[in-house]
Amino acid sequence: MTNDRQFDEERAWQAVLARDRRFDGLFVTGVLSTGIYCRPSCAARHPRRENVCFFATGAQAGAAGLRPCRRCAPDGVALDEAAVAAVIARLKQGGRCNLAELARLTGYSAPHLQRIFRRATGLSPAAYARALREERAIAALATADQVDEAIYAAGYEAPSRFYAAMKERLGMEPHVWRKGGAGQMIHWAVMDTTLGPMLVAATERGVCRLSFAEDAEDLARCFPNADLRPAGESFRALFAEVLAAVEQPGSAAHIPLDVQGTAFQQRVWRALRTIPPGETRSYGELAAMIGSAGASRAVGSANGANGVAVLIPCHRVVQAGGALGGYAYGAKIKAELLRRERVARSPSSS
Ligand SMILES: [Zn+2]
Repeated sequence: MTNDRQFDEERAWQAVLARDRRFDGLFVTGVLSTGIYCRPSCAARHPRRENVCFFATGAQAGAAGLRPCRRCAPDGVALDEAAVAAVIARLKQGGRCNLAELARLTGYSAPHLQRIFRRATGLSPAAYARALREERAIAALATADQVDEAIYAAGYEAPSRFYAAMKERLGMEPHVWRKGGAGQMIHWAVMDTTLGPMLVAATERGVCRLSFAEDAEDLARCFPNADLRPAGESFRALFAEVLAAVEQPGSAAHIPLDVQGTAFQQRVWRALRTIPPGETRSYGELAAMIGSAGASRAVGSANGANGVAVLIPCHRVVQAGGALGGYAYGAKIKAELLRRERVARSPSSS
């Protein structure tokens, strides 16, 4: 490390092992055995500690004869951040704007822009624009006298488009969703796990509740107007996958969900699913991930409103100082979930 500033190599190495994106741009990791340098969060296999040497900047690593990694493009961190911010600013203006136009705005290719935007926010630019539009419509509907006018004003071509988008996003028609699941059939079971009894409930579309130490009565409070039934044979495979995801956490990404929430909550929940198993983020970091830096309180309540534990991994959110923080089902279960995820990860990060 050729920098004057105080630099803690052990802390840097821990950041590399955790693939902690907060350190991107603060230093680069030189790998002497391969002759390349990386961002701290590079997804490639970790080098051995004795082959690593840290540099403050890519230029210094280059001067030492190393080449930038093609996978993580360590020299592009600041440019990437600026490009993502420019895209968010453009999308917030509203109006139509396709990916090609956004790419021209930033000077990146469309696929590359799509990739870095998704990495930063958890959403594609198109999905981000849809979420903004939905938020505008939902906010307007709360106070509007004229429902259709509010929907047009939020940028929809027709009210039917808004209802279709809501149905796709929420898995339920908006009016059904408001009435506590009326007209929905929900299949449930209480399963024994090593973390205690676990309630799993699902619609035809996916899992709608996962909780610990709850029973059918608790479920009925969440979905007072739904038709609740003990799960039969046709849900056995899905529930077995859910059980496996709890016993060997980190393998849940493919399990379909049917969750109810505002567009903002949906965005937070999506972002939670992009936190790698075994890693943690603070509320502030989560807010930054969805492009709403400063909204950590709103992010905290969206996190708390999550009804599908483990599969939407709200247990990966901790206090800013790194303390474990609260959990709806107790700190013990939270700590155990994180411990299991870290154990499951460790073979690939040795
Ligand atoms: Zn790399």
